[in-house]
Amino acid sequence: MDPFDYNSTERASLPRNMIENSMFEEEPDIVDLARDSTAYPTFPALDPDEAVYEPRSSRLLVRGLGENDADDDEEDCESSARLLGMSFMNRSANQRSNPSPYIRQTPPRSCSAPSARTMVVCVLFLAIVASTTMVLYFLPGCNFTKRGCPEQQNNTSNSTDGELFPWAQYQLPRSVRPLSYDLTLSPDFSTMEFSGYTVINMIVLHNTKRIVLHSANLNITKATFKLGDEAKTDVTLLENKTREQIAVKFPEELKAGQHCVLTLNYTARLSHTYDGFYNSSYIDHSGKKRVLAASQFEPLYARKAFPCFDEPSFKATFLVKINRKPEYMTISNMPKAKSTHIADGLVQDEFAKTSVNMSTYLVAFVVGNFIPANRTISDTLVSVYSVPDKKEQTGFALDTVSKLLEFYNDFFEINYPLPKLDLVAIPDFLAGAMENWGLITFRETNLLVGRNSSLMEKQLVASVIAHELAHQWFGNLVTMSWWSDLWLNEGFATYMQFTSLQTVLPQLDMGNFFLDVRFRALDKDALNSSHPISTEVNSPEQVHEMFDSVSYLKGASILLMLNASLPGDQQFRKGIIQYLKQFAGLNTDTDDLWNSLTEVKVSNQHLNVSEMMRSWTSQKGFPLVTVSRKGDEVTLKQEIFLLTSENTKHTSSLWNNPVMYVNDSCSLTPECRQLFILKTKTETFKVPETVKWLKLNYKNTGFYIVDYGDKGWDALTSAMSDNFQVLTQEDRASLIHNIFALSKLGRVSFHQVISLLNYMPKETEMNPVIEAMLQLKEIYQMLQKRYERGPVIRIRSYILNLFGVLMDKQTWTEEESVSKQKMRSVLLEMACELEQEKCTQQAKAMFKKYIESNGTFHIPADLQRVVFSVAAQSDEDWESLFTMYQYATYDSEKQKMLQGLASTQDTQKIAWLLKEGLNGNLIKVQNLEMLIHTICQSYVGNLLAWDFVQQNWNQLVEIFSIGSFTIQKILKSLTSQFSTQSHLNQVQWFFLSLKERGSQMRSVQAALETIRLNQRWMERNLPSLREWP
Ligand SMILES: [Zn+2]
Repeated sequence: MDPFDYNSTERASLPRNMIENSMFEEEPDIVDLARDSTAYPTFPALDPDEAVYEPRSSRLLVRGLGENDADDDEEDCESSARLLGMSFMNRSANQRSNPSPYIRQTPPRSCSAPSARTMVVCVLFLAIVASTTMVLYFLPGCNFTKRGCPEQQNNTSNSTDGELFPWAQYQLPRSVRPLSYDLTLSPDFSTMEFSGYTVINMIVLHNTKRIVLHSANLNITKATFKLGDEAKTDVTLLENKTREQIAVKFPEELKAGQHCVLTLNYTARLSHTYDGFYNSSYIDHSGKKRVLAASQFEPLYARKAFPCFDEPSFKATFLVKINRKPEYMTISNMPKAKSTHIADGLVQDEFAKTSVNMSTYLVAFVVGNFIPANRTISDTLVSVYSVPDKKEQTGFALDTVSKLLEFYNDFFEINYPLPKLDLVAIPDFLAGAMENWGLITFRETNLLVGRNSSLMEKQLVASVIAHELAHQWFGNLVTMSWWSDLWLNEGFATYMQFTSLQTVLPQLDMGNFFLDVRFRALDKDALNSSHPISTEVNSPEQVHEMFDSVSYLKGASILLMLNASLPGDQQFRKGIIQYLKQFAGLNTDTDDLWNSLTEVKVSNQHLNVSEMMRSWTSQKGFPLVTVSRKGDEVTLKQEIFLLTSENTKHTSSLWNNPVMYVNDSCSLTPECRQLFILKTKTETFKVPETVKWLKLNYKNTGFYIVDYGDKGWDALTSAMSDNFQVLTQEDRASLIHNIFALSKLGRVSFHQVISLLNYMPKETEMNPVIEAMLQLKEIYQMLQKRYERGPVIRIRSYILNLFGVLMDKQTWTEEESVSKQKMRSVLLEMACELEQEKCTQQAKAMFKKYIESNGTFHIPADLQRVVFSVAAQSDEDWESLFTMYQYATYDSEKQKMLQGLASTQDTQKIAWLLKEGLNGNLIKVQNLEMLIHTICQSYVGNLLAWDFVQQNWNQLVEIFSIGSFTIQKILKSLTSQFSTQSHLNQVQWFFLSLKERGSQMRSVQAALETIRLNQRWMERNLPSLREWP
């Protein structure tokens, strides 16, 4: 999945891709499977009946989201439990060795190997507990039973007939495994409901008395079960709504090796949000409303369309049938096998059974009116679908996917395994794209390219396609066992999207794009609220939160680091081919990857891949490398780079860090770089005494920040000032990024930062300019949000002076190079934002010409945002822009118009836009996050948006899900510019009040941490900024 928006230089952006499928797996031999569970290494042999009823006391530890809020009785019990201490409640549940079958397997806590002193403490504790229990027993509203609190109102373990739910864990039991699904779906666009019929063929892996699977919001009307050759019988389903699980209990054990079939009939509403099987509509060129339905299952939504084992390691085959009215068409993962007329004038489309095993999150179907453009590439029929009005916008995507498919087939030495590959532009789509196997779905802006589009827009589309296509191997063919290793999908797909396009479409300049992405990954990972790349995941919110820049961007960055430190450019490729071939059709975890790379000896003896890479995936953060020199001896010291050190336990973190360095005698070409592996806290190496300066992290291919010390920074600053081209542009950008980061840490003064930037008027390349501008803009916006008038004026004139020469050099006509387009848009957007007269006049004139030309004059696509943003500052032009927005058909341009409209300072217009963005009539809800981000750029907008989000929080998390990437981005936009105690208090208070509706999100911790950090930066630098220059 690709959740990132690469369209912005202001933040870490990424597309969201989702695809999956396990194709090369043979139809499993059932008897062997039953006998030898190691054939499925992802299914640990659990005692199948180990955990059953979840007592109320332990429920507190695992309670999910609150659609089932506890009633008063429950609250009383929970309070009691807190008073008593959870360890007692759990232990008491464990210690009940009575014949009750409902035993939760919680590890024993204290008192297990008691010393005399511990014994005394424990006895005292138990005495207190016993007496407190007696008191509580008689309290009204909470009658303790042997199982804890009364169960009749316990929604966590409810069931259709009041029976207890036989499973108490978030992940499903491994005793039964699905082999194949037959799905029949009948969507009805008049009622916006659908009915479904699902047949699941399963194999029993371990003796068990129950089958547990997922189902969410499905009204199951009939369930039957068939064991082996026995007759089919009706069965009762139990349901745990909180966990979205259903279960069937059996009086007799099902035996390992037995085959069984569960059949379920159900109805449900088509989802009105962007997940599950959801409905959508758009207005066509004739003004007619068109309806469609599409699916989005990653990560946890297949269960909203059909009952299933909705976890990535439960791979199976799928046979899909969809009933439709004759005027619609359908698409699914596989080619259509046949269409049959059935009752009520409907047509049933039946798709071929998937030729591969795949995870449920990769199943997909679309019903509506779409038109394909297609061609055949290496025996695969490749089609790009759009709504009929946009058919002429599919050409670039078809060319690009064709080239990329050939590239990946060759690069991975494994051909794309399905007979067809469809790419579909969906008019309503929240993520950037989703890699469903054989049916990749996209947001229209990420697939369709208009006649007048710029290379920047093509870069975006190509990179999303390259990402999603890479998933057909990384993610679909070889899938992570559990969401904790999501990076194996997303880090790889992100890495491949950049590297594949460097070969396939070099004119798109993906290298520069990737560098910016790595800086943003470092920024995010510098917070204490970050997490290791591989992280434990045990709730829906935690699953959603894995879709973040650590999984995507840091994941891609460390793969680049590994590749760059290996000798020869084919070593890394050999290793990943080995990995894909070894695990085709299976599930893996991070160690499998490192072991594969180690086994094929991708490296010479001095680099142990497993040892090196584990230090990067198992701990959060990255190293700060400090360089000091004495004569010919260079000392490197490593410690964790952490912007805020509150509550940190990472003081002793060490990485196995391949440090690449160059020096003043040879600094530009790859041959100049020298490798030093820094493993311990401090190490030394020698350089000739004549060396004037060292630059570590050549081209920023490593994932760390370097502090050169005062002398080192002075030497580099003066080298840049003398001749900035003595370093590559990547290294110049890397120095700029690093020095700003060190300034946040308090390691360098703001004066040192300014000194390094003095060379900027001479700069010619994109990355150093964009990095410096981005960092200065952050400071400018923070000061603006504090109403620090004097410092705002000073930093404004500083920026205009520093970049004035470059701003003046920019043209307003079509520009061919993508890097120059990016640099130009960043420079001019800043110039106009700071009201540089030349810029605003030019933009106004261009808008006037645009309006008067009646559609014949085209604004270069990379300049549209700045032109529309300037225009939107006048009431009259805002109205004209809004009229054009309503009628625009090219989505990419329309999006820039919306960004222009949202840059107004008019409070009434801002409030109206936010409201429209949420109700979805004039502005699609999928654009709300971008709308909020743009609005937050202005002082008044930020406050209004903050207020709006607080008021509408419940609706927002219903649409976007707690922890989702959209919610993460909204929080960041709202809070990242706050730097006062009063804002910190407000943010803290609001999130505290949310409790289970979001207070525990990692992005909340990141927001609070960022505000404190901003506060600290201001305390440190504001006095000098007030006196500056
Ligand atoms: Zn992806």
